[in-house]
Amino acid sequence: MSINTVWQQIKQYEKEFSRIPDSVQLIAVSKRQSIDAIRDVYQLGQKHFAENILQEALPKISACNDLALVWHFIGHIQTNKTAAIAKHFAWVHSVDREKVANRLAEQRPQDMPDLNICIQINLDEETNKSGIALTELEAFAEKIKDLPRIKLRGLMAVPKPRHDFDEQRKPFRKLNEAMILLNNKGYALDTLSMGMTQDFKAAIAEGATMVRVGTAVFGARQ
Ligand SMILES: *Cc1c(COP(=O)(O)O)cnc(C)c1O
Repeated sequence: MSINTVWQQIKQYEKEFSRIPDSVQLIAVSKRQSIDAIRDVYQLGQKHFAENILQEALPKISACNDLALVWHFIGHIQTNKTAAIAKHFAWVHSVDREKVANRLAEQRPQDMPDLNICIQINLDEETNKSGIALTELEAFAEKIKDLPRIKLRGLMAVPKPRHDFDEQRKPFRKLNEAMILLNNKGYALDTLSMGMTQDFKAAIAEGATMVRVGTAVFGARQ
């Protein structure tokens, strides 16, 4: 596969599931891919890239600072990494602790636009996986919604792999319903970050606005 294929598939799935054209954004997950690979894909027109490990991301961000890239952080966040994340990324998809949200808000540089964040939900309640339980969502959102310099945009999840298309759709539908519930309570969330190489079609069927795709864009990771 290639990025052209993935763009085409996104367009095709938008049509197939009656989504508004261009309502699904591709985030190219460049973890364990080279700087050259990032630059190649950028030349084809891709602007949004995601990394999951800060130490790996920083040299890449710096090596690409002549390009107009938008960087997304999608990995587990250690408290001692929040300052660098707040400084070098435009989006953080994996916020799941109040302490992390507080620190990102405090440490987002004043001269930068608000940091866009998503709350990560552990939909399958898997142990050892990042994310809060769906039952904790409302209380958590309430705590972080008014923090300065960060803007709560939506929800993110990495459901466990399922092979059947209809089974893949179920967790994504849950995430969509959770966002609607919050919006009915006065939030203005506009982002559902869900779907990866194996399941982004199901995610688009259920309302994804950002799909995070690595392997299908770049090939297998190193
Ligand atoms: C690695 C990763 C992806 C992309 O996975 P692929 O299967 O290569 O598309 C998406 N989201 C997160 C959080 C990841 O860590």
